[in-house]
Amino acid sequence: MATIFSRIVKGEIPCYKIAENDKFFAFLDINPVAKGHTLVIPKHETDYLFALDDMELAEMTVFAKKVALAIEKAIPCKRIGVAVIGLEVPHAHIHLIPITQEGDMDFKKEHVHMSEEEFLEVQRSIVERF
Ligand code: 5GP
Repeated sequence: MATIFSRIVKGEIPCYKIAENDKFFAFLDINPVAKGHTLVIPKHETDYLFALDDMELAEMTVFAKKVALAIEKAIPCKRIGVAVIGLEVPHAHIHLIPITQEGDMDFKKEHVHMSEEEFLEVQRSIVERF
């Protein structure tokens, strides 16, 4: 069965898309730990990031860098934190999170509640800087 993220790539489940190319896709996390929290995934289904072959992992990192630089310009923050967890969705993904202090990366803290309008505004702001 296809993962939720594969269904997002196919357009079967809606998302706030940030960017894509032939191999990778980036979209806003639906339950963000910070405004601008974005997920970067390979389009093809692989559960574990470190199961990707070397070239694909390298290319995904370069794609994630481009997304991160756009987020950094769009969202006030010190830098973009990077996390790989993958315990919830079995489809490799990199979390990109705008941070100003270490605690901003804490997935256990209360997440940010965003309205539809806020998601759309964050999406627009990142996309136009990509
Ligand atoms: P992890 O697998 O790294 O523990 O967490 C998966 C992440 O994917 C979580 O941050 C969760 O909020 C996000 N997520 C899960 N389902 C969806 C979804 O349907 N849409 C979006 N945009 N994000 C999702």
